[in-house]
Amino acid sequence: MHIANLSGRLVLIVDGLAVDVEKASSGRFAADPQAVYEEWEEFRAWAAQARLPEGNPVDPARLGAPAPAPRQIIAAGLNYRDHAAESGFALPVTMPPVFTKFATSITGPVTDVVLPPGGHTDWEIELVAVIGTRAHHVSADSAWGHVAGLTVGQDISERITQLEGPAPQFSLGKSFPGFAPIGPYLVTPDAFDDPDDLALRCTVNDEEVQKSRTSDLIFSVPELVARLSSVIPLLPGDVIFTGTPAGVGLGRDPQRWLAPGDELVSTIEGIGELRQRFVAQT
Ligand code: ZN
Repeated sequence: MHIANLSGRLVLIVDGLAVDVEKASSGRFAADPQAVYEEWEEFRAWAAQARLPEGNPVDPARLGAPAPAPRQIIAAGLNYRDHAAESGFALPVTMPPVFTKFATSITGPVTDVVLPPGGHTDWEIELVAVIGTRAHHVSADSAWGHVAGLTVGQDISERITQLEGPAPQFSLGKSFPGFAPIGPYLVTPDAFDDPDDLALRCTVNDEEVQKSRTSDLIFSVPELVARLSSVIPLLPGDVIFTGTPAGVGLGRDPQRWLAPGDELVSTIEGIGELRQRFVAQT
């Protein structure tokens, strides 16, 4: 199953067309895309047997984030070996470093992003998982059952804010407005041949800068859910950025930062793409 946020309303994507959930369910499920995670199991059961009307074409520019207002956004760092190496860090053993991207940074999949003046703004393609049912002290074996679905994310990062000061400042450096685009769809785990092995890549102005597979994650989605849930309850609709592979601008020689006019395209197999254009602050 694919769902999306089309102009602020929850839709099911059927054969590439959008079916409005609130209308198709005669009001049983709300139009608010964030609200569906509170009733995720009921929604899945309804969607599996619903007789749906013909859908409407989707304009990608009208898509919002599939989880636009989560209570918690949890992001993992150093979760691919090659990215930990390019960053100059040892591999995490029991838990990756964890930070948040503040919720005001979330946007839909196709956006213009204002570059913070004087900053060093970088890209990080990431698989993003959205929680469907509350997970607290869950095992990795049962963790996929708590995940509503997967989507594409960009953990856009301003490296000066992130790294200056006596200790790194990950959450602020990664939370400027527009720095957490997610989308275009939320795809349920059963819709993939193998949800633990998805190709991901991103390009800057059509030049490939990152390419990997999620099977290279140090902590897979179920491992991350299990380990995070050993500390914090994960709530319906929470968003988890799972970490980025090698190829970010920070790890290059010479280092490279996004500039006005650059276009960043981030793609994950079986989900779709994000498209960000960077603009100078006026
Ligand atoms: Zn990241």
